[in-house]
Amino acid sequence: MTQTNNFVRRIAIVGGGTAGWMMAAALSKTLSRHPCEVVLIESPDIPTVGVGEATIPPIQLFNRLLQIDEHEFLRETRGTYKLGIEFVDWFKQGQTYFHPFGRYGADIHNVPFHQYWRKLHQLGEGGSLGEYSLPTVAAYRGTFSPPDDNPRSVLSKMAYAYHLDAGLYADYLRRYAEARGVQRLARRVQGATVRPDDGFIESVVFDDNSRLEADFFIDCSGLRGLLIEETLHTGYEDWRHWLPCDRAVAMPCEAPEAPRPYTRSTAREAGWQWRIPLQHRLGNGYVYCSDYLTDDAAESTLLANLEGAPLADPKRLRFTTGRRKQAWNKNCLAVGLSAGFMEPLESTSIHMIQTAIARLMTLFPDNAFDPVDIAEYNRLSDIEYERIRDFLILHYKATARDDSELWRYTRDMAIPDSLQHKLDLYQSRARVFRYDEELFADTSWIAVFEGQGVVPRRYDPLVDTYDLEQLRAVAARMRQTIIAGADSLPRHEEYLARHCTA
Ligand code: FAD
Repeated sequence: MTQTNNFVRRIAIVGGGTAGWMMAAALSKTLSRHPCEVVLIESPDIPTVGVGEATIPPIQLFNRLLQIDEHEFLRETRGTYKLGIEFVDWFKQGQTYFHPFGRYGADIHNVPFHQYWRKLHQLGEGGSLGEYSLPTVAAYRGTFSPPDDNPRSVLSKMAYAYHLDAGLYADYLRRYAEARGVQRLARRVQGATVRPDDGFIESVVFDDNSRLEADFFIDCSGLRGLLIEETLHTGYEDWRHWLPCDRAVAMPCEAPEAPRPYTRSTAREAGWQWRIPLQHRLGNGYVYCSDYLTDDAAESTLLANLEGAPLADPKRLRFTTGRRKQAWNKNCLAVGLSAGFMEPLESTSIHMIQTAIARLMTLFPDNAFDPVDIAEYNRLSDIEYERIRDFLILHYKATARDDSELWRYTRDMAIPDSLQHKLDLYQSRARVFRYDEELFADTSWIAVFEGQGVVPRRYDPLVDTYDLEQLRAVAARMRQTIIAGADSLPRHEEYLARHCTA
């Protein structure tokens, strides 16, 4: 039997924030042989959220898909390199740890290195776990270079992502997408019409009542979910009982020093503050829970903790942590904030736009909009959300803080069984398993467990089959090699000046 294709002829993307332009850029690149036109509609008078400025390493794959040159990308977005996140005061006030990209040490006889470190640690030896991570040591020494191609070199262990200016990133992707045929309409959408027979979206309606018809609608309109919620009433799962922060105030300031190659997250009375170094400024924001702090108090706290002169008025944002009940409903796919929002704590939102794009490419529809494909998209999306959600909840749950209501609440709250399972395994023998291709791998979980006081009762029994003197020597050599490697790299600001500035 021959297959007759019923191609999607027009895709309308509603929204021109990070989600809209990432989607437009990816479609313009990957659909070059597909007979469909892509139109992006953005309202010049509805601002983008504009604060998504920290990323994680898989963004390199997205740049590779688009064939974007990394140095040009950082020049255009005034971006910097990111080797991980420093968490300050999360476990206890006055205590700091680092969540690096990459891995800790090197496995010995197929047993993960952190198990050996646990033994040394119990003996009061071996230094801190971070000393076995090149990105951690380089971050604190302020040095950077991309990984060395030689797998035998310690410098091959470098792993990184970027900090970027969200507004410049959207502009950059817009130029990319428009150059490849995406049409942009600067119009305000006031609603949509649906087909009476099946409830599919037929057209978006502009504020002068004119319409634009399309076969497939990608809702990138931000938290409100103009199509997925206001038109299709898909519903939203509220996760504030696990992730209670629901507001943020953001304000960039002048940078007091050369950009450090890492994000800082400082826990505060009713939430936490981010510090993101760019080439031309610091991005700052206080994410908090409105049950425990007023907007004015949050703004005063942020202002009092800026390290340089403010560069803009404070921007106040409200959100409900959770996810849309179906990211893909009929012929409408929600991507970005319209699909859901957890916490910017581990810089996962831009990544989830990227994975939404990848899932769409794998399950690209024709006009039949097969419910089997849509259900699979939603199933995969749900798994991704739940696994990331658990990792974020861990940061709030594993705390010894009891100085304010938020921390007392999160320390005592009930957590999902899936997270309890991970905690039990770690507390038993420091073991971490990666399920369902989840985003965060061993290093991430180990960093937060160890950084936030989740102490295993025992280590892997196989560790004791390795000679202790030999372990001491190997561990000492690893630490020395990593320090020497980090010190051999250029300073981060010098690397940027040489490669990534205009
Ligand atoms: P938006 O940026 O809100 O864009 C919505 C678009 O829709 C705009 O172009 C607007 O004009 C358009 N629009 C809306 N209504 C209409 C209409 N009626 N007609 C026409 N157009 C319309 N992510 C990270 O990965 N890392 C981070 O460090 C990070 N930090 C964050 C901090 C905070 C406090 C918040 C709230 C989010 C953060 N995020 C972060 C998330 C990140 O900012 C978003 O995922 C990302 O910017 C995508 O936003 P968006 O494009 O979905 O929505």
